[in-house]
Amino acid sequence: MTAAPAAALPAGITELAVYEVPMRTRFRGIDVRDGVLLRGPAGWGEFSPFWDYDAAESRRWWASAVESAVDGWPAPVRDAVPVNVTVPAVGPERAHAIVRASGCRTAKVKVAEPGQSAADDLARVAAVRDALGPSGAIRVDANAAWDVDTAVARIRELDRVGLEYVEQPCASLAELAALRRRIDVRIAADEVVRRADDPLRVDLSEACDVVVLKVQPLGGVRAALRVAEAHGLPCVVSSALESSVGIAAGVALAAALPELPFACGLATVALLADDVSGAPLLPVDGALPVVRREPDRLAAVAAGPGTTGRWLARVAEVRAA
Ligand SMILES: [Mg+2]
Repeated sequence: MTAAPAAALPAGITELAVYEVPMRTRFRGIDVRDGVLLRGPAGWGEFSPFWDYDAAESRRWWASAVESAVDGWPAPVRDAVPVNVTVPAVGPERAHAIVRASGCRTAKVKVAEPGQSAADDLARVAAVRDALGPSGAIRVDANAAWDVDTAVARIRELDRVGLEYVEQPCASLAELAALRRRIDVRIAADEVVRRADDPLRVDLSEACDVVVLKVQPLGGVRAALRVAEAHGLPCVVSSALESSVGIAAGVALAAALPELPFACGLATVALLADDVSGAPLLPVDGALPVVRREPDRLAAVAAGPGTTGRWLARVAEVRAA
């Protein structure tokens, strides 16, 4: 943790802190999660774009952190947010245990992990179905890994255990639209929205049934609400693997959406081995409360000088972009 010189901080921000925590299981190719927390008049915000995102793409992530710290969030319309348990690309026994320990009735399962097979995915999803029972909901996320023919084959196979939807099975809008004509399972769009130059103008009409909203990549709670309104499709709020400070912004978005037909992917603090808060934002009976968390463990999870320097340089670069 390091406080930058006051003159270098944006208006309203009084403190920056850099955190670094190990992941329990490798997820999205990372073993350690790190980021910057900003303190402002409205509370704490989180800026934690993944390291493979450049300064231009990270600008919306910065806007989200500033909104959290300086402006605060729109009023909630509900006081709890149903959430799914997130199952990384682990073996079936571990997948079963993760779901049973979560208390959630919906599971999101990572599939199409590099180096793994269709049989690995099927075994994991079948174990999750066994853990949830017939009334639970299972969604899978392929992170754009499949071409259309592969997606058709894999989704039909996985749907034997019953899928609520499949998230970003293919990379492009055209592929998603072609796939959607060939399968009965709902398609959710994630990367194709949040990594677009303008998420408001992506034409989703033929490509998906559900839109995944992530607060940081979309530029904040208000910006994400505009994306939801622009597309007029059912929305699911998911995290970008933030600490409890960043997760609270996702919860604020989910709490402010007029409709919330699906459980949200916001129980991901469980994927971290530690947290910035002594009261991590984890679900009870499959739901998160609509609250903020104070980062009262900053000293315990403070990044070392190398990581701290990297983040302060990154903040400067993004603000200059
Ligand atoms: Mg996704």
